[in-house]
Amino acid sequence: MTIATVDPTTGETLKEFAPHTAAEVEERIAAAHAAYLELASTTIAQRAEWMRAAAGILESEVDAVSDLITTEMGKTLGQARYETLKSATGMRFFADNAERYLAPEHPVEAGAVNASELAVRFDPIGVVLAVMPWNYPLWQCIRFAAPALMAGNTGLLKHASNVPQSALYLGELFARGGFPKGAFQTLLIEGAAVAPLLDDRRIRAATLTGSVAAGASVAEAAGRNVKKTVLELGGTDVFVVLPSADVQRAATFGVNARVQNSGQSCIASKRYYVHTDVYHEFASAFVDGMAATVTGDPRDEATTFGPLATSRGRDDVQELVDDAVAKGATVLTGGSVPDGPGWFYPATVLTDVTPEMRIFREECFGPVACLYRVDSLDEAIARSNDSDFGLSSSVWTQDAGEIERLSRELDFGGVFVNGLTASFPAVPFGGVKDSGYGRELSAFGIREFTNAKTVWQA
Ligand code: NAP
Repeated sequence: MTIATVDPTTGETLKEFAPHTAAEVEERIAAAHAAYLELASTTIAQRAEWMRAAAGILESEVDAVSDLITTEMGKTLGQARYETLKSATGMRFFADNAERYLAPEHPVEAGAVNASELAVRFDPIGVVLAVMPWNYPLWQCIRFAAPALMAGNTGLLKHASNVPQSALYLGELFARGGFPKGAFQTLLIEGAAVAPLLDDRRIRAATLTGSVAAGASVAEAAGRNVKKTVLELGGTDVFVVLPSADVQRAATFGVNARVQNSGQSCIASKRYYVHTDVYHEFASAFVDGMAATVTGDPRDEATTFGPLATSRGRDDVQELVDDAVAKGATVLTGGSVPDGPGWFYPATVLTDVTPEMRIFREECFGPVACLYRVDSLDEAIARSNDSDFGLSSSVWTQDAGEIERLSRELDFGGVFVNGLTASFPAVPFGGVKDSGYGRELSAFGIREFTNAKTVWQA
C-alpha cells in the first residue's frame, strides 16, 4: 500500500511519502531506546506536566488537526473536532491519574511472606511498537500513547498508510510538550515491514489495532521473540432490542450506532436482534432513520456522514452486500454505490440474512446493518454470542432481570445498556475471541506495558 494522503471525498492524491529507509528506521529505534532510558528515570509528576503541555498544544491546533483528519480519511469535520478534543481529554486524564494507577501496592502484610518490607511496583518496560488504524487517526494512537508514556515507556508508531500526515503530526506532538526527543516517533513503513521489527531486542512489546490478519501476523512475530502483545481487532457488535425498551429512542440511537464514522468503527453496531413483539415498530423507525441520513461533503454541516476512507474499503462493503443479495437477502434501503466522485456509500439495511452469506459472520466496515427478528431473550443472547468476535454490545430494555442476564451472559468486552457503545479513558476497552486480548485505557490499560515487580526485603 502506498503511503499517501488521498482525499476520499474526491479521490485525489494530495501527497505521497517515501517509506523510511532501513537506516532511518534504525535511527528512530535507537532514539526511542535512548529516550526510554531517560524517561524511565523521570517522575510521573514531570511526565504529567509534559503530557498536559502536549494536550494544550493539541487543543490550540484543533482546527488544523480536524481539517487534516477530514482530508485524510473523510469523517465529518464535526466528528474530527470531537475526536481531537477527546484525545486531548484522554491525555489530561492519564496525566491526572497515572500516579494513582501506578502507585506501588502492598497486597499483604510484609510478615505474611516473611518480609520486613513488601511492595509491588509498576515499572516501565521499554520501547513499545504501536500499529494503528486510520478510522480514528488520533484517538486510536492517543489511547495507547498517553498511558504508555505516563508509565515511562516510549513508543514507535506505525500508523495506517493512508493517514501519513496525521501520523507525522503525532510523531512531533509529545516532544513539543516537553517529552525527551524520541519518546514518541512515527515510522513511515508499510505493514509488511512491521513483523521483522519484533526481532529487535530494543523493542520490548507491541500493540496493534486493526484487522484479525494483521493482529495475528504481529502476534506471531512477537510470540517467536517472547514479547507481549495487546490486540484490539475487529467486531460484529450487536444491538439488541427487547419488548420493554423505549423503541423509538432505540431506533434513533440505532441509526447513529451504525453510521457513526461512516460505519467504520470497530464498536459500531452491525447485527440488530429485535424481539418479535417490537420488531415492526423498530424496523419501520430504524429503516426510515437510515434512509434519511445524508452522505456528502464532510465539511458541510448538513452531512450525517462522509465517504468511506478508501476505495478498497468501499469495494469490500459492496462485495459483502452483493454476496448477501445474490444469496437471497432483502435490501430495505441503500445497497449500491452512488454515481460521482469520492468513495461514498449509503446507509444500508439488509434483512433475510442467512448463515451462508458472508456478512452473517464477517465484519462489514461500512454503514450496513443486518436486521434479525428474535423470539426471546434466550435467542437474542445465543445469537449474539454465535460470532467469532466479541468486542462490544448495545442492549435496550427496562427490565432489571434482563439487564442482569445480558450483562453476565453476553460474551463481549463491553455491554452498554440503553446507550451506544463507546470508549472512555476511565474504563477498560477491548474484546474477547477474535476481537483480541488485553485492554486499553483505565488502570488495566496503563498496566499492560509495565513490569509488575515484587520487591521483598528480609
Ligand atoms: P488493517 O489492514 O489491519 O490495518 C491496521 C494497521 O495494521 C495499519 O497500520 C496497517 O498498515 C497495519 N497492517 C496491515 N497489515 C499488517 C501486517 N501484516 N503486519 C503488520 N501491520 C499490518 O485494518 P483496516 O482494515 O485498515 O482497519 C480496520 C480494522 O481495524 C477493522 O477490522 C476494525 O474493526 C479494526 N479496529 C479495531 C479497533 C479496536 O479497538 N478493537 C479499533 C479500530 C479499528 P497499512 O495501512 O500500511 O496496511
